[in-house]
Amino acid sequence: MKTKDFWKNKTVLVTAGPTKEYIDPVRFITNESSGKTGYAIAEYLNQLGADVCVVSGPITIKNDFPVDKVIHVTTALEMYKACKKLLPHIDVVIFAAAVADYRPKEESKEKIKKTGDEIEITLIKNPDIALEFGKVKRENQLSIGFALETTNIFEYGTEKLIKKNFDFIVINSPNLAGEGFGGDTNRVSILTSNLEITHFDKKSKKMVAEDIIEFTAKNLLKLND
Ligand code: C5P
Repeated sequence: MKTKDFWKNKTVLVTAGPTKEYIDPVRFITNESSGKTGYAIAEYLNQLGADVCVVSGPITIKNDFPVDKVIHVTTALEMYKACKKLLPHIDVVIFAAAVADYRPKEESKEKIKKTGDEIEITLIKNPDIALEFGKVKRENQLSIGFALETTNIFEYGTEKLIKKNFDFIVINSPNLAGEGFGGDTNRVSILTSNLEITHFDKKSKKMVAEDIIEFTAKNLLKLND
């Protein structure tokens, strides 16, 4: 089988973009994720004939992915609920979203007024979608995660691969110009579950997406030889 044919008719879920965790009606906690990589992956898979659904946090990027195949969510809890329904039915899931690890324990219904010199916001843990899926993943299902780290990137990447039961993890770092969140380029390494690492050059996020998709197919086809 050609690597591109691997994706034909596969059911794939891609999570993409950031999440927003509201403190009050006009203030929230979020991160720098643009959704570019997630959407580039989804667009390429769609071209290859996969049946792709994107569960997307709030994004502003232009993209060519079919609108009717996107489920828009805002918070991590909403992303978790949307994914929970879809995950039992997928062949492959690619967790490209930058999900907020914590959310405010209480969301104020009214805009918080400026009063004392300090205020405290208690944060509580969000569900980890990838971790929960890792516990129930079937043998014929595949999960690919991302790790964006500023230090010890390979050590933390390996830890996440094992903890979340990923088949592959894409490791990247925002430390150097043109890498990580926001921009149009990235430099990634992919670690497989047998701890083999492959490094890729810095390139456009569209080409990074193609590398990830082709690497996955090649690797699995090799395993099935
Ligand atoms: O945030 P962290 O570095 O642990 O993310 C590693 C992987 O887990 C990413 O692929 C991310 O999309 C996924 N994740 C998730 N749900 C979370 C946090 C992370 O699916 N609440």
